[in-house]
Amino acid sequence: VEAAAGRRGSRDGSRGGSRQDSRDDVGRRVVVTGGAGFLGGWLCRRLLDDGCEVVAVDNLVTGTPAVVEELEARPHFSFIEADVTRVLDVPGHVDLVMHLASPASPVHYAALPVETMLVGSQGTMHALDLAQVRGARFVLASTSEVYGDPLVHPQPETYWGNVNPVGPRSVYDEAKRFAEALTTAYRTSRGVDTGIARIFNTYGPGMRTDDGRMIPAFMTQALKGEPVTVTGDGSQTRSLCFVTDTVDGLCALAASDCVGPVNLGGDDEVTVLELAETVCRLAGSSSPITFVDLPEDDPRVRRPDTARAAQLLGWKPQVPVEEGLRRTLEWFEEQLRSAA
Ligand code: NAD
Repeated sequence: VEAAAGRRGSRDGSRGGSRQDSRDDVGRRVVVTGGAGFLGGWLCRRLLDDGCEVVAVDNLVTGTPAVVEELEARPHFSFIEADVTRVLDVPGHVDLVMHLASPASPVHYAALPVETMLVGSQGTMHALDLAQVRGARFVLASTSEVYGDPLVHPQPETYWGNVNPVGPRSVYDEAKRFAEALTTAYRTSRGVDTGIARIFNTYGPGMRTDDGRMIPAFMTQALKGEPVTVTGDGSQTRSLCFVTDTVDGLCALAASDCVGPVNLGGDDEVTVLELAETVCRLAGSSSPITFVDLPEDDPRVRRPDTARAAQLLGWKPQVPVEEGLRRTLEWFEEQLRSAA
């Protein structure tokens, strides 16, 4: 983070400015919405490690109480169980608001379509209001889904995307696009210090077995010896980023005065079929691979152009995919063992 913060500049996507380049720069008292979730839990741990006081706000709609219990054992952590679509009230001063609250898996946002739209709109507004009132920096966890089924490949931040506004994924994609626009409006019209991260597929220990996303699905199927279900013919591509790398990027963005949007994602693009085969190999599984229907509006390709993150934040993913997959497999093995 220190290195990352030290190398940022005032080029495209950055406001320039002179924040102190140090770990403390992440912010002394940080509010993390969605702090009981997969990414939020890792981010809270990292901020605590960096010496911050952390207040996580979460309604546990897709988050895990176990994440909160583990964090509550640490000093300088507190938890507020609240829905951020209602007014977000956090007592005391706040230096940084990191807004991660939102269902993130297609299974979850399909089950919670209105809630997903509301957390992206009203929830983002309340998080921005908190940042404005307290004079805090605000970081939005946006997504590569703002690019939809992209017609430009790899995707630079300057690409505006190809999103179906009424398709099955639209509640998530459009909520995040709205959240980006709202964040920009608070910056330009209300003077809030904001940064937008566009996060690509992030994976790692802590994902839920019933999450529905590709990595948890492949890993639990492979470990149970069940057929590994690949959608379509598996030729669609994804670029994976290990969770510690994504968290590094979020912290570097928080510590900078970069406005963004900034892509945070892995550079190694693989087909979904290759990924399923790799998971089976690493798990030592003889599960057969089977093919099921491709969901509507599923992106054909997905790979971030990470030049802006490298230039402005000094950020590059560090964890090789096979190493990240091995560490994640260990987590799922442990989950399945304790559930047995
Ligand atoms: P997650 O579902 O594990 O975490 C989201 C958290 O937000 C959960 O704890 C949930 O309970 C909470 N939440 C949802 N609605 C809320 C509300 N109204 N009020 C308070 N809390 C609420 O998902 P994740 O993978 O950790 O994703 C975290 C954030 O990062 C999301 O905003 C997601 O869009 C973004 N993101 C994640 C990825 C990824 O690959 N994991 C990729 C792109 C973007």
